[in-house]
Amino acid sequence: MVKRRDFIKMAGAAGLGLSAAGWSMLAAADGVAAPVAVGVPTNTGIKGRVVVIGGGMAGATVAKYLRIWGGTGVDVTLIERDSAYSSNIMSNLVLNGSRTMSSLQYGYGNLTSRYGVKMVKGDVATIDPVGRSVTLASGTRYAYDRLVVAPGVDFDILPGLETAAAQAKVPHAWKAGPQTTALRNMITAMPNGGVFVMSIPGKPYRCPPGPYERACVVADWLKKNRPGSKVIVLDANPGITAEVHSFTDAFNVVHAGVIEYQPNVTINSVDATNMTVNTSIGNIHGNVLNLIPPHRAGKVIAANGLADSGGKWTSVDVLSYEAKVAPGIHVIGDASATTQPKAGHIANQEAKVCADAILRLFSGRALDPSPHTNSACYSPITFETASWLTANFAYDPVTKTMQPVAPSSGEAAARSKDNFEEMNKWFTALMGDSFA
Ligand SMILES: Cc1cc2nc3c(=O)[nH]c(=O)nc-3n(C[C@H](O)[C@H](O)[C@H](O)COP(=O)(O)OP(=O)(O)OC[C@H]3O[C@@H](n4cnc5c(N)ncnc54)[C@H](O)[C@@H]3O)c2cc1C
Repeated sequence: MVKRRDFIKMAGAAGLGLSAAGWSMLAAADGVAAPVAVGVPTNTGIKGRVVVIGGGMAGATVAKYLRIWGGTGVDVTLIERDSAYSSNIMSNLVLNGSRTMSSLQYGYGNLTSRYGVKMVKGDVATIDPVGRSVTLASGTRYAYDRLVVAPGVDFDILPGLETAAAQAKVPHAWKAGPQTTALRNMITAMPNGGVFVMSIPGKPYRCPPGPYERACVVADWLKKNRPGSKVIVLDANPGITAEVHSFTDAFNVVHAGVIEYQPNVTINSVDATNMTVNTSIGNIHGNVLNLIPPHRAGKVIAANGLADSGGKWTSVDVLSYEAKVAPGIHVIGDASATTQPKAGHIANQEAKVCADAILRLFSGRALDPSPHTNSACYSPITFETASWLTANFAYDPVTKTMQPVAPSSGEAAARSKDNFEEMNKWFTALMGDSFA
């Protein structure tokens, strides 16, 4: 098992700040002269125009590092539909009242003022891979030499939840925002002895441990505040998909008698009026229904012919994250199909490998033949304890995929308060690396 502190040291240096060492060392060796914005060198000699779609964990990071490593000759335009980013990471803690949604908001001011990223508020509708431009729903067009697409995920609609009214009664809250607040309000409105029903889609979905973490956080709150209540977890997967040791202990010991875990469950339909889910194990009624539907890449992917992996995701060359079906277009974060988990920390890592690759391509250098990525994830089990999960990946030239390497994936031996404190430090460092 990986020692937690050893991993954090490695993730802190190689994982968050310096994974694509070539470019950071280049800037240091050249003695970055009089940057026009904090940390942006003027003398790299690299030139090119990059448009980035989506200012989430992947898109914000790639935009920032293209400027830090590429310098002022690299023109970066980041197009994002929202005015601020709402972090999904930690959003389960809004459900037990220990965080607020406003504490999870990240603006784009630093990307502009410190790194000279050009921000555009808009929704990209179409991509022209031949003419190399993107067009917003408003009709405005932006030309690029290389495009990075980082739109995160969209959700399938479960049968019975076709209307906006039904969706409002059964929020998934798997994209942090108004649905997270709505779900928190539904939980606090539950009676003693109430039933909270949640579902987990089949893999791949974003944040493998996240739904189990949610079950724990909600169970912990209900135990203290709504005695006699239950959390029923309907998992489409054959078993717990991440942190098996931690969540088995959490379900069977820490929250025994509160969480009822059911693997291999298919949801057939949802009756939002009667708050009942029809499943492969029968009809289940809840005071609150929190059903997380199957995911697919953000809709700009399929709408522009980039969903070549299962009709949902984009296949990429993980040396550059260039789409296999579209030269010049790179897809990073949750929207790409790789062997790595769909997670914010991995999105940050993919963004750095991608930024490094684009700068090498602009300057006629070979791609890094052996990129490494890593990921850490903390899972609150109670109001004040957490477990953790780590993973390291390296490029395997035989399979041309990212494969786990030593120190390989591991999870906490036991939940602890210490882990909970480290979780807050890790979160601050990760969000700072992407948005500050
Ligand atoms: C409850 C929960 C807990 C989680 N906890 C963790 C954790 O502990 N650790 C971890 O590593 N990960 C965690 N995750 C997963 C993590 O949030 C995602 O993997 C990560 O956000 C993916 O980054 P992304 O950039 O691909 O997508 P996102 O962060 O979702 O960003 C996509 C952005 O693109 C924008 N966009 C989409 N389409 C367009 C368009 N057409 N035009 C303009 N803008 C567009 C969106 O508005 C959004 O801002 C968690 C997720 C959830 C739901």
